Amino acid sequence: MQSPITRYLESVLDDCRELDGGEMAGGNAELARADPDTFAVALATVGGSVYAAGDCDTEVSIQSISKALAYAVALEDNGLERMLEATDVEPSGDSFNEISLERSTGRPRNPLINAGALAVHSMIRGNSAQERADRVRDLHSRCAGRQLSTNNAVYEAEIESDDRNTAIAHLLKSVGVLAVEPAEVVDGYARQCSMDVNCVDLATIASVMANGGVDPATEERLIDGAVNRHVLSVMSTCGMYDGSGSWTATVGIPAKSGVAGAIIGVLPGQVGVAVLSPRLNEHGNSVRGVAVFERLSRDLELHMMHVAPSGASAIREVTSEDDTIVRLQGDLRFAGAESFLATLADGVDPRGRIILDLSHVRAMDDVARRMFDDAAAGLREDGHDVDIDDPHGLMSVPDSE
Ligand code: GLN
Repeated sequence: MQSPITRYLESVLDDCRELDGGEMAGGNAELARADPDTFAVALATVGGSVYAAGDCDTEVSIQSISKALAYAVALEDNGLERMLEATDVEPSGDSFNEISLERSTGRPRNPLINAGALAVHSMIRGNSAQERADRVRDLHSRCAGRQLSTNNAVYEAEIESDDRNTAIAHLLKSVGVLAVEPAEVVDGYARQCSMDVNCVDLATIASVMANGGVDPATEERLIDGAVNRHVLSVMSTCGMYDGSGSWTATVGIPAKSGVAGAIIGVLPGQVGVAVLSPRLNEHGNSVRGVAVFERLSRDLELHMMHVAPSGASAIREVTSEDDTIVRLQGDLRFAGAESFLATLADGVDPRGRIILDLSHVRAMDDVARRMFDDAAAGLREDGHDVDIDDPHGLMSVPDSE
């Protein structure tokens, strides 16, 4: 049976196919030669399911989408503090290749415009342009679950047309935010941008980020949790260049676009999305890509500001006869743990034993764990007998993030 989700994705492509406005990327001769009608969409969930429609085998160069995980590599190499000295995290309001640096500090405004991405690339550990680009490609390959390769024709065309990036790199050197020579940075960055990916690769990479940096397929941690969260935060404010504000308002999914016409979107805890269609709008973002994301966000309620279910759904049942039994369920975080505390505050029989049943809880974060510990300690201090029924050992597993 064809999945209803795949059928839905096909219908979205059909509805958006008529949007044939926009321009193919200029500058790079290889990109200009791509088929403008290529159109694909893929979803990869944090549970490891992948749904795809359209030209999902067509490969394009990853281009600026690589800036997100290159930033992750540099953050893991250098730590957040050093990276913030190199580039700020403010939306620039400028186009992606603007020669713009912050007036007061000389830093690029954010790591997702070219100025910031060049500074970031220079800080990746490695002895050569090739080594730095290989480390970025390795992380993408591990997240995509297959070895990705560099498209040499695209790389050569990038080098042919690198005047602007070279100018930016020299400017960065002049203000002291470049860790290696301009020519080496521009070369490594061009290699990083020339990695070939298809739409499923991109959605799969996005699903690792949606899953907090852990590969949904293998459960292996590929990106540090705090680094992943930081990269997603910057994607949510800067990922779509000078189109970032309206993107966040209408689509509301942390995202990154590339000049070859792909866009990835990451909805934390739910799904990674990728769309590919090469014609670009005035911000350098795929015209149909933006339209498909708007549809998916609306139809599937994927907007990150869509209000999540309240903590009350964490309470499965409360019974109070001889003993008070509170049965919890689901994935517990602050709101779920708080609703347990509120339930206790409302009606505990001071003579009864209090049993906290965690057998239906799937996972809990450090915050919830601390709140249960504190609540149990407080109740015991007040003279209650407290039992925590924790058959999965959740109270003793430290949160992996
Ligand atoms: N390689 C391109 C550049 O540096 C990437 C830009 C993009 O995808 N927006 O100009």
